[in-house]
Amino acid sequence: MADRPLRAFVCGHPIAHSRSPVIHGYWLRQHGIEGSYERRDVSPEQFADFVRGLSDGPFVGGNITIPHKETAYKLVEQCDTAAEAIGAVNTIWFEDGRLCGGNTDAYGFAANLDSVAPGWEGNGIATVLGAGGAARAIVQALQQREMQDIRVVNRTLSRAKVLSDRFDDGVSAHTLDALPELLSDTTLLINTTSMGMAGGPPLQIELSGLPDSATVSDIVYAPLITPLLRDAVDRGLKAVDGLGMLLHQAVPGFERWFGVKPEVTSELREIVLADLEKGH
Ligand code: NAP
Repeated sequence: MADRPLRAFVCGHPIAHSRSPVIHGYWLRQHGIEGSYERRDVSPEQFADFVRGLSDGPFVGGNITIPHKETAYKLVEQCDTAAEAIGAVNTIWFEDGRLCGGNTDAYGFAANLDSVAPGWEGNGIATVLGAGGAARAIVQALQQREMQDIRVVNRTLSRAKVLSDRFDDGVSAHTLDALPELLSDTTLLINTTSMGMAGGPPLQIELSGLPDSATVSDIVYAPLITPLLRDAVDRGLKAVDGLGMLLHQAVPGFERWFGVKPEVTSELREIVLADLEKGH
């Protein structure tokens, strides 16, 4: 790392909406590191060339976001366990000259719950709404933390089946009709669908069947308090918003590129929240 300037990037298409520069910029200032974290808008047609050019370029690594995470998984020379299980890479770095890829979404999800809902995984029965890219990371985190039973519930059953088949025993696929029965013994309900996002359809689920001790987590973070989380609070359940996952998933990348493990502070949370409230 010493012979490379400390420059990292976030690459996606589009990329203007990414909050990652706010997060990494805060940590760079906080630690007095002379480095940068820069947006790169790279189209799908240019992405492979962008990745191949990294070994000769100025960057120590970076983040990969929509729509390039699956392509990055295929292009890196070496993957960490999470990226291998999820089939997508969101963080890249160099190790002994080799381009390595990792996926920090599972880490971010679990680290956030550790911080705001300690003990969340004990005797866990998880119901995961959605079967897209984010759901793969969440299921990986739940399995790593040895949740007893993981149920994936999705509008399109075939996608839920593809996801559950990726993982070992203990992960099952269901349609939305099964939800009332599944909720009765759920200890952790997680929304990984895009429903509830500002400007989109709300996620309307009857939460009365959940046990009183259940935790409800929504990985959508704009708005911060989604209709699902508001319902959970109204029912007196523990509610965990999606901003914490976004902040925690950034920690491993910063540590790899800049050599310091940063902290998710309440000040950082407020800064990113204010940026989200400003919109694009
Ligand atoms: P994705 O791959 O496109 O998957 C979207 C999921 O939502 C699919 O399961 C889809 O069901 C479901 N869905 C969408 N519209 C629906 C509707 N009207 N009714 C029922 N189900 C619907 O997206 P993703 O990459 O997994 O991301 C999902 C969300 O997670 C996004 O809002 C993203 O911003 C958020 N996210 C947050 C973090 C964080 O750090 N907090 C990290 C990653 C992602 P079908 O399969 O039936 O289409």
